[in-house]
Amino acid sequence: MQTEMKEKTYRNFINNQWIGSASEETIKSLNPANKEEIVGYVQSSTVEDLDHAVQAAHKAKKLWRKLGQAARGQILYKVANILEENLEEIAETMTREMGKTLPEAKGETARGVAILRYYAGEGMRKDGDVIPSSDKDALMFTKRSPLGVVGVITPWNFPVAIPIWKIAPALVYGNTVVFKPATEAAVTAAKVVDCFAKAGLPEGVINFITGSGSVIGQKLIEHPLLNAITFTGSETVGEGVAKSAASRGIKFQLEMGGKNPVIVMKDANLDSAVEAVISGAFRSTGQKCTASSRVIVESEVYEAFKEKLIQETEKITVGPGLEEGIWMGPCASESQFRTVIKYIEQGKEEGATLIYGGEPLTSGEHAKGYYVTPTIFENVTPEMSIAQEEIFGPVIALFKATDLEEAINLANETKYGLSASIFTTNIGSLLEFIDEIEAGLVRINAESAGVELQAPFGGMKASSTGSREQGEAAKEFYTSIKTVFIKG
Ligand code: NAP
Ligand code: MG
Repeated sequence: MQTEMKEKTYRNFINNQWIGSASEETIKSLNPANKEEIVGYVQSSTVEDLDHAVQAAHKAKKLWRKLGQAARGQILYKVANILEENLEEIAETMTREMGKTLPEAKGETARGVAILRYYAGEGMRKDGDVIPSSDKDALMFTKRSPLGVVGVITPWNFPVAIPIWKIAPALVYGNTVVFKPATEAAVTAAKVVDCFAKAGLPEGVINFITGSGSVIGQKLIEHPLLNAITFTGSETVGEGVAKSAASRGIKFQLEMGGKNPVIVMKDANLDSAVEAVISGAFRSTGQKCTASSRVIVESEVYEAFKEKLIQETEKITVGPGLEEGIWMGPCASESQFRTVIKYIEQGKEEGATLIYGGEPLTSGEHAKGYYVTPTIFENVTPEMSIAQEEIFGPVIALFKATDLEEAINLANETKYGLSASIFTTNIGSLLEFIDEIEAGLVRINAESAGVELQAPFGGMKASSTGSREQGEAAKEFYTSIKTVFIKG
């Protein structure tokens, strides 16, 4: 069978070698659009394998630091070119492994290339500032230094972009890396690491290890040779990362969930608001931390907005992401599918009104995958689970607000604060929104899920801890400042 021919076993990458785990056991990665298809096998690594990877990164620290920022940047340009050459194949693997549609997977891989080039360019940019000293005979300046070994733990929803936006700045600023990807997307991750491997990095600079989060992920967090950890994923795991890192005084950075609101005011262009809500809520099957999940509409236009929203949602085609004409793929895994269904049931039980979708798709062309319909609830109140908890699925909760103040209060009534949008043509309203909204990404007349690689990315409240990712902001996390004073 064709699907079986594609199966392959992927190994860990340690000290520039692809090696199998001491466990001699593997984990299979399944296609959520067709659970009978195995995308590949990855290593079920042991804590000894993990230790080997961290030791390799530790040993490589000095040489990599001494190579210099410009030379490190040059290597990242090579990685970018290799990723670009393999874009089609990596994007297809991503679609097979976690379900997002092929155009989205290609877009994400192209984003990965652009991020690599951005940080490659950092190789030639400044790594400090000269500061006037009060002593006229002295020279005082700052110099950015690498931290050492950085642990990188990533989720499955952006299996190319998230690892790259962590690994590329870590490397260019002179750190070595131990990368543990999400098991659900570990084959895609292995292919990304292969691009680094082919670019000819010195031994031990990037190390890749797959396996259970609670075993090797946990061990990575606790490893005494780790100098920093960057994590994107759930709050529960994030809390463990924070505790462990704080107890040892190492730097940590956490990107966690969102419950991102979109406010639609009566003066908004309703067509573009509907388009942005659909894209923000349902692209990637709602599995983005910046996905729109709460839509707060001013009363006067509530019915008109709702009607248009339903009309446009009806046009969404759900199916395998590799098929042309499919707009929304499956949930990324069985557990994700079950979570979404659980929240839909809870929404109904808690008294919200289901006005669109809310069904698992289990027959015909959908029988082999983890499909759900796009789903819309109304009459949602702030204390309901679907108003508070991150679903990570294609589910919208609609709210009505009488004015901007009520809308912003509703928008802020969550522990999260990643992204937030408003649709309005009123300058006063948008200025008020910019000031009052509790979110790290503030979007005006634009969907909540847009991100640009050259700008800081991260949230307020429970969404993020530590300095921002991406753009220049990444430098804050991946370097430490030395203030140098030289007396002539
Ligand atoms: P998760 O369970 O926290 O997993 C994230 C990563 O942590 C995976 O690599 C996982 O490995 C690993 N892990 C699991 N348990 C661990 C432990 N005890 N110690 C160390 N590492 C551990 O999250 P997920 O379910 O994969 O991802 C979905 C969540 O990520 C959502 O809640 C979403 O909001 C969040 N997310 C946030 C952002 C953001 O930028 N803010 C972006 C994307 C996703 P295994 O895969 O092997 O379990
Ligand atoms: Mg999978």
